[in-house]
Amino acid sequence: MFKRILLMGPPGSGKSTVGEYLTSALHLPLISVGKTLRNLPADHVHKLTVESFMDSGSLAPTNIVAGILQERLQQPDVANGFILDGWGRTRENIAFYDPKVDVVIYISLPEEEIIKRITGRRICEENGHSCNIFETSSEAPLSCSQCEGKLIQRDDDTLPVVQHRIDIFNKETLPVIGDYLMLGLVHEVSGLGDPTTIALSILNIIKKGNNG
Ligand SMILES: [Zn+2]
Repeated sequence: MFKRILLMGPPGSGKSTVGEYLTSALHLPLISVGKTLRNLPADHVHKLTVESFMDSGSLAPTNIVAGILQERLQQPDVANGFILDGWGRTRENIAFYDPKVDVVIYISLPEEEIIKRITGRRICEENGHSCNIFETSSEAPLSCSQCEGKLIQRDDDTLPVVQHRIDIFNKETLPVIGDYLMLGLVHEVSGLGDPTTIALSILNIIKKGNNG
């Protein structure tokens, strides 16, 4: 079985859902870089720095984040392995801190599907229920299927923002996946289709480990 697992994939690939599934199936801690930064203890030496960057909507400097991640991956609860999400977005990430993973799960998704999933997303103003206008059978729903609340699109889900995120993924992250490919560590899984089926096939890859 693989024990040091890195999840990679473009926005909308369902990476975090897969992470949640794997952490409960494998009993390995799910380390999300974003969450680790948000949940930094109040007395942490970099707490204020990280917070001020997050408040301004930007990322803390890579060297600081790398240090925090390295520290996190040395905790006793990850001694048996981990599922890492949110690192290796750039080659710079890995240059600052290489988590020495033994498998990279790359959930791939065609660009038009990424755009459909994200720009079609609508959130209910009342209860936060989310739906996708491209997945409903007939016309676009005008109100929430649960409470009839008004559906809104988040600013982050608009086409220009999504297109920009895809461009960054292609420019910055694909080269990292290429590097891991050269090392023979990548298992590519299509993110198309039913999330449970995808998560199950990833679970099988991980359980087979180097024997598979
Ligand atoms: Zn609602």
